[in-house]
Amino acid sequence: MLKGIILGKGVSGKGASELLRKLRVDFEFYEDGKGVNADEFDFAVKSPGFPPNHFLVRRLKGRKVKVYGEVELGYRFMKGKLAGITGTNGKSTTTALVHHTLKVNGYKTFIGGNYGIPVSSFALETDEESVSVLELSSFQIEDLTSFKGDVGALLNITPDHLDRYSSFAEYLKSKVKITEHFETLVVNLDDESLKELKGSKFYGFSLKREGDFYLKGEELVFPGFKINRRELPLKGVHNTENYLCAGGILYLLGLKGEEIEKGFKTFKGLPHRVEEVGKVKGITFINDSKSTNVDSLKKALLSFREAVLIAGGKEKGLDYSELKDLIRQKVKALILLGETAERMEELFKGETKTYRVSSLKEAVKVAFEKAKEIGCKTVLFSPGCSSFDMFKNFEERGEAFKEEVKRLEEKLG
Ligand code: ADP
Repeated sequence: MLKGIILGKGVSGKGASELLRKLRVDFEFYEDGKGVNADEFDFAVKSPGFPPNHFLVRRLKGRKVKVYGEVELGYRFMKGKLAGITGTNGKSTTTALVHHTLKVNGYKTFIGGNYGIPVSSFALETDEESVSVLELSSFQIEDLTSFKGDVGALLNITPDHLDRYSSFAEYLKSKVKITEHFETLVVNLDDESLKELKGSKFYGFSLKREGDFYLKGEELVFPGFKINRRELPLKGVHNTENYLCAGGILYLLGLKGEEIEKGFKTFKGLPHRVEEVGKVKGITFINDSKSTNVDSLKKALLSFREAVLIAGGKEKGLDYSELKDLIRQKVKALILLGETAERMEELFKGETKTYRVSSLKEAVKVAFEKAKEIGCKTVLFSPGCSSFDMFKNFEERGEAFKEEVKRLEEKLG
């Protein structure tokens, strides 16, 4: 009888276990520190977070035991159409937007992957009619082998995860690997690092020039139809990118202009992404806790005329110097917390007034006071860093921010 070992006990590992259980395939979870006899297993399922060069992965591969990524495992049991989205920022928003548009138009659709829902958990429910929309992280792409989807998308690539990749070039390579796994791809023509991707399988979207899907004035232009972005709920230049990319994917999946417009107009966005969470004495608080790198912070700043900014978090060696001009132009006061606070203060103290704080509670209090003093109408929490120095994840960090804003509202509102 076939027996597998699941490497990693998180969300993906649990998803894989559900699938194997339904298939009545025997398996066990790898327990850290416990000896493993590689000869006992016919295959392994690796969670994206499990290190690819872990001694066990090498040992299993050495014994010719097949090691599948969780997405690859799920894929082997999937039917119907498949769309996949990757990039440094905007993956979740674009994935959810595509899925929502399919859903409101009555298509049978599934969402998963890096979105927090393992592919294995719904693979057996898919059929010839369904369209599955997957968010794919670079770690998940690395583990794909036979996976072949219909429409893939590369939203953008900017530096991130440099703590896990030896260089930006390595990170880029892992993302670009997605092109091998889809029949057709939608790529960002404005992204320097994606310029090389040319050929009949590539469709380009652009904010700056005529592509297959592009912005002209205020209109999103697609083959045969246009949508005015002023009528759409998600604001900011980054969301225009997400709309163009999602529209391109949906067009290639065969949806009509009216269907796409209907989906776009009814999609409210995801929490923790430039999300308005409260108003105290005329000052609006924006939660962008999902902002974990330089480009997401940049895009958040571009969405406002001016703001008091709360930033900082876990140190992962990113270079923030390209933000100096924007900080000078838009940030009326900069409140810094977390591991990166000291380094960011050094970098930005010549551009605006900076304040170091030791908790999110204090950050909200100081930001509110400064905004009031200066007469600035927006407090933006866009850390530009991961959260793991002070919180479990970006959701917990975002919730903590909302909680503080609520407290302030109750006290002063
Ligand atoms: P991901 O799943 O790739 O992390 P999200 O949709 O969760 O993407 O957004 C992550 C962060 O990036 C948020 O701060 C959001 O406001 C910002 N963002 C969303 N779309 C884009 C984009 N196209 N370019 C840059 N930043 C973006």
